[in-house]
Amino acid sequence: MSPAVRALRRFTVRASLPEPLSALGQLATNLRWTWHPPTQELFAAVDAQAWEQAGNDPLRLLRDVPAAHLERLAADESFLTRTRAVAEDLNRYLTEPRWYQRRQQDADQTRLPASIGYFSMEFGVTEALPNYSGGLGVLAGDHLKAASDLGVPLIGVGLLYRSGYFRQSLSLDGWQVEHYPVLDPRGLPLELLTEPSGAPILVHVALPGGRVLRARIWKAQVGRVPLLLLDSNVEDNDPDLRGVTDRLYGGDQDHRIQQEILAGIGGVRAVRVYCELTGTAQPGVFHTNEGHAGFLGLERIRELITGDGLDFDEALAAVRAGTVFTTHTPVPAGIDRFPVDLVQHYFGGEQLLPGVPIQRVLALGAEENPGLFNMAHMGLRLAQRANGVSRLHGEVSRGMFGGLWQGFDAREVPIGSVTNGVHGPTWAAGEMSKLLGGSEADTGTGPLTFEPVTDSLLWELRCGLRGKLVDEVRRRVRVAWLQRGASALELGWTDSVFDPDVLTVGFARRVPTYKRLTLMLRDPERLRALLLHPERPVQLVVAGKSHPADDGGKALIQQIVRFADDAGVRHRIVFLPDYDMSMARYLYWGCDVWLNNPMRPLEACGTSGMKAALNGGLNLSIRDGWWDEFYDGSNGWAIPTADGVADPNRRDDLEAAALYELLNQQVAPLFYDRGADGVPTRWMAMVRHTLASMGPNLQASRMVREYVENYYAPAGRSAGSVRENSFQGAKELAVYRARIRAAWNRVHVVDTDMSVNGAQAPVVGHPVTVRARVDLNGLTPADVDVQAVIGRVADSGELSEVVTESMRVDGDGSYVAEMPLPHVGSVGYTVRVLPKHELLATPAELGRVILAG
Ligand SMILES: *Cc1c(COP(=O)(O)O)cnc(C)c1O
Repeated sequence: MSPAVRALRRFTVRASLPEPLSALGQLATNLRWTWHPPTQELFAAVDAQAWEQAGNDPLRLLRDVPAAHLERLAADESFLTRTRAVAEDLNRYLTEPRWYQRRQQDADQTRLPASIGYFSMEFGVTEALPNYSGGLGVLAGDHLKAASDLGVPLIGVGLLYRSGYFRQSLSLDGWQVEHYPVLDPRGLPLELLTEPSGAPILVHVALPGGRVLRARIWKAQVGRVPLLLLDSNVEDNDPDLRGVTDRLYGGDQDHRIQQEILAGIGGVRAVRVYCELTGTAQPGVFHTNEGHAGFLGLERIRELITGDGLDFDEALAAVRAGTVFTTHTPVPAGIDRFPVDLVQHYFGGEQLLPGVPIQRVLALGAEENPGLFNMAHMGLRLAQRANGVSRLHGEVSRGMFGGLWQGFDAREVPIGSVTNGVHGPTWAAGEMSKLLGGSEADTGTGPLTFEPVTDSLLWELRCGLRGKLVDEVRRRVRVAWLQRGASALELGWTDSVFDPDVLTVGFARRVPTYKRLTLMLRDPERLRALLLHPERPVQLVVAGKSHPADDGGKALIQQIVRFADDAGVRHRIVFLPDYDMSMARYLYWGCDVWLNNPMRPLEACGTSGMKAALNGGLNLSIRDGWWDEFYDGSNGWAIPTADGVADPNRRDDLEAAALYELLNQQVAPLFYDRGADGVPTRWMAMVRHTLASMGPNLQASRMVREYVENYYAPAGRSAGSVRENSFQGAKELAVYRARIRAAWNRVHVVDTDMSVNGAQAPVVGHPVTVRARVDLNGLTPADVDVQAVIGRVADSGELSEVVTESMRVDGDGSYVAEMPLPHVGSVGYTVRVLPKHELLATPAELGRVILAG
C-alpha cells in the first residue's frame, strides 16, 4: 500500500459565486438563515441533496455544488427572483426600525444605550459555528438572536476556539472518547477584521516576561448583531500562545486565566477597534455573562485611568455604573477561582494594565479563602447591577453571595433575576411556529395566538415530530455502533429501535453530578418494567457530554450505555453520542416528555425543557430553576423533592421512586388513554395549555426585553450620570465612598425609643412613633438614610417580615418616623443607618449598614 500523501496544511477555499447569485453569499454568512425558514428553503432549492449532505450549512453547500450547477442557477430567472426576494427581506430586517428603535423614540427613553457589549466565554448560535459546550453558550446565542429581532444594539464578544469544545463518541465498552477536529475559520461563517491594507487587525495583550499575546478578530454576523471572536492562532505569537484559544474549557488554570484575560481585556480592545472601524457607537453598557468574562471591567478601569486621568476609585465608580453581571450557577465548583499567586503573576507589575494597582485588583476578587481569587465576586463588585437566571436562582444567589452585603437581610441583597428564555424561531419546529401564528415570534411582543386547530390536527403534528425523531434516533444509533466498531452486518436491528407510536421521553444535558444522569437507573428493574410494559411502554432517549477531565461523569455515561446495550431493552432506550444543537433540535421537537431531575436548587434555570415546551412537549421535572416558577399543576408534572433529606443516597432513592411512580401511574396512562379517533384528549389538553400559557413567557425576546428595561436602560442612565461634565458624578461618588469609608466605623445609633400613639392596646395598623439619636461621626444627614425597622420578633430577638421607613430629622436633630404596626403578635423594632447617594442603585449597594444596639 502506498503511503497516502498528507497535506501539510489544510485551508478552505470559499466558493466564488457567479455575479447574479452574489446575494447567496450574504445570505450564507449572515446567520439569520439559522432561524429563517425561507432562507433555508432557498438553500435547499439550490440542490436538495447537497443541502442535506452539507448538514444544512450554506457555506458548505456553496462549496460543494459544482460550478456548472451554479452557472445554471445564475441563468434561472425564477431562482433569481426568489433569491432577490429573500435578500430584500434580509435587508429590510437589518435596516428597519424595530422594538428598540421605537422605544428610543419615547421621550423618557433618551438614555437607552447606543450599544451594549455582551461578553461570554461561549456562544452557541448554530452547529455550523461550534463554539459552545452547553446551556450557557446556547443561551448566549439565543440572547444575540432575540436582541437582533428586537433591534437591541448588542455587540457580542468572545473567543473563537480552534476545536470548539469536543466531539463525543463511545468506545466499545461505553466509555466517552473525545475528538478535537481542527476548524478552519475561513470555512466558517466569519469575516476577518482587517486594516484597509488587508492585513488582519491584531489585539495585543501584555504578558509577564515582556511577552505579548496577539489575537485576530473574526466577526460573525447574527442578524443585526455582530459577534466578535478573538483568535490567538496567529503566526506572530509564540507557539504556546497560539494555543490560548485552542479549545473551550480544555486546559489547566494557567491556560484558563490566559483565555479569560484575552476574552475580557482583549475583548474590550476588540470592541474599541470594531466600533472605530465601522463607525458604531461605543457601548454605554457592558454585560458580563458569567464571571469568566469579568476582566473586561479592569480594562475599562485602565482606560479611564490612563486615558481620562481618573484615579482608581473614580474609574471604579464609572465602570460599575455601566456594568451588568449575570451569575449562572449556584454550584460552588461551577464558579471560577484562581490562585491569588496566578492573578498576581499576570496583573502584578505594570505591563498588562498600567496604572491599575495589583492590590486593588486582588481586593475585587477576594473571598473567604484568602488564597483564592473569585471571578464571581469580582463580577459582583465590578457591576452596579447583577442578576440570577430564574426567580429561584435569584433567591439562592442572594443567599449564596449574601456575605458581600453583611448586615443585610437576604431579600435586600442587590441581586435580582431575569428568567432565561429560548429563541422560539430557532427552537420551535417550523410546523409548530406556523400553528402558533408564526411572525409574532419574531419579536415576541404580541400575544401568541392559536390558529383554530383541532386536537386531532395538533396530535397529528406531534406524531409527525415524534416520527422524525425516531428516524433520527435510528440513523444516529447506527452511526454510533459503526464508530464503536460494529460491522454493518450486525446492525440490522438498528432499523427498528424505537417505535413512532410509543411514549417518548428525553433526557439530554451536560453530565455534572448535580444533574443526576443516572437517577433513572436507581432501580434498573423498575426502569426495565416501564420500558417493556405490555400496554403502556415508554421509550427513553438519553444524551450528554461529560467534561473531558471528569471521569466520574464518564462513568455515569458508561452505566447508561451498558444498560442500553442490553438486547432486551435496546429497542426502547438509547444513548446518543455527541449531543449538540443539531441533535438537540430533534429531541426538543419529538419528545412527548422532557425529563429533568437535578438536585434542587442547583439547576440555576435550565432551558432545554423550555425548548421542549415550545414544541408541545410536557415537562416532568424536579421543581428547580425555571420549572419552579412555571409549573402550574396542569402543564406537566413536578417530581417531588426530598429537599430536607441529608443523606444523598436516600434522597436519590426517594426521588427516583417518585419518578417511576409518576411515569407509571400518571404520565403513561394519560398518554395511552385514547378516544375513538385515537387521540389522547386529556394529554392534548395539557399540550394546548403548555403552548398557550407558557409559550410567550419562554421566549428569549421576553428575556431580552427584561434585560433592556430592568438592567441595560438603568445602567445606561447611571453610566451617563457618572460621565457627564468630565466624570463629575464618578468623582463625587468616589469622594463620597471615601468619606463613608473613613467615618463609618464610628457612626452609631446613640439611643432609640418607640411609642404607641394614643390608645392603650395597639391593634395591627395602629400608628407608632420611632425616635432615634444618631452620631454621624462627621457625616451629614444628607449622606445617610436612617431607617426605622419593624417586624415580627422571634424568641431569639431576630426580626423577620420587616417593614422599613426612612426617618426624618426632627427639630432637635434626632430622627423620627411614624408608621403603622405591620403585624399582630410579638412585634419588635430597630433602627439602622445606610449610606445614601443619588448615584447608588440601591441602599445596600456599598454593603454597609449600622444597626442600633
Ligand atoms: C438548550 C441546550 C442546552 C441546555 O440545556 P439545560 O436544560 O440547561 O441543561 C444544552 N445543550 C444544548 C445543545 C442545548 O440546545
